[in-house]
This record gives sequence, structure tokens and C-alpha cells, in this order.
Amino acid sequence: MPDRILQAISRQTIDHRGPDFAEVGRTALEGMKRIFKTESSVIIYPSSGTGAWEAALVNTLSPGDKVLMYETGHFAATWSSLAKKIGLDAEVIGGDWRAGADPDLICERLKQDSGHEIRAVCVVHNETSTGSVSPIAEIRKAIDEANHPALFLVDTISGLASIDLCFDAWGIDVCIAGSQKGLMLPPGLSFNAISEKALAAHKSASLQRSYWDWSDMLGPNSKGFFPYTPATNLLYGLNEAIEMLEEEGLDNVFARHARHGAATRSAVKTWGLDVLCARQGQESGVLTAVVMPDGHSADAFRNTALQSFDISLGNGLSKVADRVFRIGHLGDFNDLMLSATLAGVEMSLARAGVPHNEGGVQTAMNQLK
Ligand SMILES: *Cc1c(COP(=O)(O)O)cnc(C)c1O
Repeated sequence: MPDRILQAISRQTIDHRGPDFAEVGRTALEGMKRIFKTESSVIIYPSSGTGAWEAALVNTLSPGDKVLMYETGHFAATWSSLAKKIGLDAEVIGGDWRAGADPDLICERLKQDSGHEIRAVCVVHNETSTGSVSPIAEIRKAIDEANHPALFLVDTISGLASIDLCFDAWGIDVCIAGSQKGLMLPPGLSFNAISEKALAAHKSASLQRSYWDWSDMLGPNSKGFFPYTPATNLLYGLNEAIEMLEEEGLDNVFARHARHGAATRSAVKTWGLDVLCARQGQESGVLTAVVMPDGHSADAFRNTALQSFDISLGNGLSKVADRVFRIGHLGDFNDLMLSATLAGVEMSLARAGVPHNEGGVQTAMNQLK
């Protein structure tokens, strides 16, 4: 986390019902609209991203409603189990975890649904378990091509502020985000951006909700306040993060992430290892998941890296546990940090006896310099 954010968070906690708070609340709520690129409302919860997943569903849907979900990886699979647990009929399009969601398959399924039983299409923007990005604007087009009225719900928990996302222009109805990824904050805040169409669906949606209710939030939010205690210090940090992102310029932030993703993939290629995302053009600028050669444990390798160089690599989740490791290159990250990270991976490959070619770091440096 950037020092600026840590310092902002360390400020004194103020009375969240007092007059000084309104400015903090308003600045955060207005600022997040610019980050989501929306004119409509953003809700901020004191919760992890999982809470905002649940909030998106309980505010727009009713018991037994059918939702179409796409299994791009572990996070998409977890969101669909959440949907089932809260009483939705989640239909899942299976994926091989090596690409983003396929707009054609979504279009085809929606065209079959002539009775419009499907109430929402749910897609993960940046699948953090695999490093694949789903083509959100194209999926919007696919829903329109099928002439289907379903809501479009997008989890951009690890995409927001790292990969471009245009809530209004791409016709998204609800976006879910969290504080601890591209926003460079500690965990503890989550977000729903909501369209007019989602707000209309909210009026008749009858899934049980209390803590997550958008209606309870929107009233006080209009004056910069919250119906219950907000995570005040994280809001200080959020306002600082928004300022930093806007100083750099969102387009520059996106370009930096894309460039670091490309340099990382060129290092992986030089090592002779495979990137898990196999679909060209859908590789993530947020993280790169690397497939271990057969017969080698990704977790043993990660442990070697941690013990030897104090570098923490992401683990493979559920289906790809022990098969992949993940290199994060998101948030407050620069060329030197990436070079050092890749050097740590390359030295660890050698220490752990994982077959590879040398020179990955040099290839990345040639791209960065
Ligand atoms: C991190 C993440 C989540 C889970 O968020 P929590 O804050 O751990 O609840 C969900 N989806 C994606 C894509 C994520 O990256």
C-alpha cells in the first residue's frame, strides 16, 4: 500500500453522524462514480467483496429466480454457489478456466430462453484465480443481440482501477468491487454500482435483505451519510486512492497494468513455462497465473520462494490447487518492483529445481527499458 494511503487511514476517526463527515462521505461516493465511469449511484459497504456479491443478488432478484452464470474460474464458481445458497436457480455455463466468458455461448443460451426465465447474467470481469479477462462490452452486445431483458451483473472486484471498465457505456446493471485489489487499500470496503434498470428491479425484488438494502443506503448517501457505521478510516484511504488514480490518469493506470502483464508473460515464455490463460487478448494485466511443469508442486515452489527471498506468490485455488502459482502485478506497482518480482521467481525456479530456461528477467527488462 502506498504511504499516502497509509497516512490518510491513520487520521483520527471522526463522528460519522457529525457535520464534518458529510464531506468525507460525499467525496468517496462521488469519486467512485468517476472510477466506475457512471452517472448513477454507487453504494459503499463496510465488508469484503463477498458481501457486495450477495448485495448485488439480494437487491435485484426474488427467490427461485434463474440466473445465468459463467464459470471462468474459482471466483465465478464461488459466486454461483453463493447464489444457490441464497435461493436462486443458478445455471452455470462451464469453462475450462483458461479464458474469459464466451459472448457467443451466452447469446446462444439467451436466444433459447424465449420465455425470459433468466433474470440476470453474471460474469466475472477479471478472474483472479486464472488471470483471464472477460470481454464485458462484447457480452453486453451478446445480450442485446439475443434481445433479452436480463440484468447484467459484473464482478470487477480485481478489475476495477486496473483494467478499463465503463459502467454506463457498456450497459452494466450492477458492478461489484472491493477495496483491497486495484484500489490499493486494505480489505474492508466493497461496492455496488447500480443502473436505473437495476434500481427498478430492486423495487420488486423479494429476496430477504436488511444489511445490504440499497434503499436504506441511498437516502442518507444523498447527504454524504450512511445508515449504519461506515468504515470511516478506510473512506479516508479511499479518497486518497481516488486522488492518486486521477493524478496518474486512469488511462495511464490501465496502460501500466497492461505493460506489466505483457512483460511478465514474456518472462514466463522465456522460462519455457505456460501461462494459464490460453486465449490471446484475454490475458490479465492484474496478475499472471503460471502452470507448473508436470510432476512439480506449485505450493512447494511457492514455499521455496517465500523462505528464500521473502516473496509471496499467489496459490492455485480449488481446481488448479498446487498446479499453478500467481504473480500479482496490480495496484501500487512499478517497473523496478516487477523486475525484482520476476528475479525472485527466476531464482526460486532454480532453487526449487523446476526445469526452466534462464533469461526471463532479461526478456522482461528488454520490454520495460
Ligand atoms: C478477491 C475476489 C473476490 C472475493 O472478495 P473478498 O473480498 O475476498 O470477499 C471475488 N471475486 C474476485 C474476482 C476477486 O478477485
